[in-house]
Amino acid sequence: MTAIPGEFTPPTRLLLGPGPSEVHPRVLRAMAAPLLGHLDPAFIAMMEDVKALLRFVFATENPLTFPVSGTGSAGMETCIVNLVEPGDEVVVGVNGVFGTRMADVIERAGGTAVRVEAPWGRVVRAEQIEAALRNCRRPKLVALVHAETSTGAWQPLPDAAKLAHAHGALFLTDCVTSLGGAPVEIDGWEVDVAYSGTQKCLSCPPGLSPVTFGPRAQDVLRTRKSKVQSWYLDVTLLSQYWGEARVYHHTAPISMNYALREALRLVAEEGLEARFTRHRRNHEALAAGLAALGLGLASEEGHRLPMLNAVMVPDGVDEARVRGRLLTEHGIEIGGGLGPMKGKVWRIGLMGESSRRAHVLAALAALEDALRAEGRRVAPGAGLSAAQAVYSA
Ligand SMILES: *Cc1c(COP(=O)(O)O)cnc(C)c1O
Repeated sequence: MTAIPGEFTPPTRLLLGPGPSEVHPRVLRAMAAPLLGHLDPAFIAMMEDVKALLRFVFATENPLTFPVSGTGSAGMETCIVNLVEPGDEVVVGVNGVFGTRMADVIERAGGTAVRVEAPWGRVVRAEQIEAALRNCRRPKLVALVHAETSTGAWQPLPDAAKLAHAHGALFLTDCVTSLGGAPVEIDGWEVDVAYSGTQKCLSCPPGLSPVTFGPRAQDVLRTRKSKVQSWYLDVTLLSQYWGEARVYHHTAPISMNYALREALRLVAEEGLEARFTRHRRNHEALAAGLAALGLGLASEEGHRLPMLNAVMVPDGVDEARVRGRLLTEHGIEIGGGLGPMKGKVWRIGLMGESSRRAHVLAALAALEDALRAEGRRVAPGAGLSAAQAVYSA
């Protein structure tokens, strides 16, 4: 090496994309605490706090609730590889990137993915799920993405869970983006298995994936015919470390667990209902501001997520140039579209700490500037006053 690079100093950014979201200073401080051994009694006591706090946000009594070491996709793989054995039929909703990814993981695990499709931005209907279940011989699992981050669609879950059970299948949901920002009722909705991620509405850096396995899912784990093909993600092995036995499996990411504990404490201090209301209100203000700027949402009316807004790019406006201008001129990160929505939408995330009135107003002011730079006529302050009207209503 000719020269040692200087210390890395990240530029100042406001994270309003599809994740990671803004992180509270208390969470950053928690990560800077000295390390403990992963079998130290003090660390083990901390793990118990993390599990209890996770049960609280998931609204579940499931003892088998813990964070998998890895990002949200690791949680997805964990749930699927532990429950799906070669030849198993899995009915999976596919209406965006993450449903598509689930179907891929199901097939890699040797399962048969029975895809129930809906156009991107729309939700999967219960009738479609029922029809798919009727066509299966012995469906093992129904899998749906609760909050489809690629499109902003908010998938209803309780009816689908009932249908799954009526056909003898388990119900799995991806609540990576919804957990901590909108109601997720694992026990109330009879969800058997779910996974989430830390860097969306929990406002913690990426690196852990909370999962929860209910009693029916645990029965399936116990009665598997084949070994789980992933050693790292084998829940039965992991539960010997996260459960009573405390058997070494892999070295827990110590600092990430400190961070998650602190992030979950912040969620508990705010209270779930207050947190959901905050997310809804900031979404309503943003949507009103966007409408005043002439911008519409791409997701289906009545099924729009509060924490992720897919905004349609108007004709004649360069999607990437606007995003670039927001980043370089305003220090604001928003996301672009994926798959069929590439170049057609912006994705504005208001997740966890990112969901604040000041951030909504900053985003609207920056968008107004960027739209004007693209040659669009916008009345000065139109977006801001529409948003303010929502807040003062
Ligand atoms: C972000 C996300 C994931 C994947 O999480 P990573 O942390 O990127 O691995 C899975 N599902 C949904 C709905 C997501 O938003």
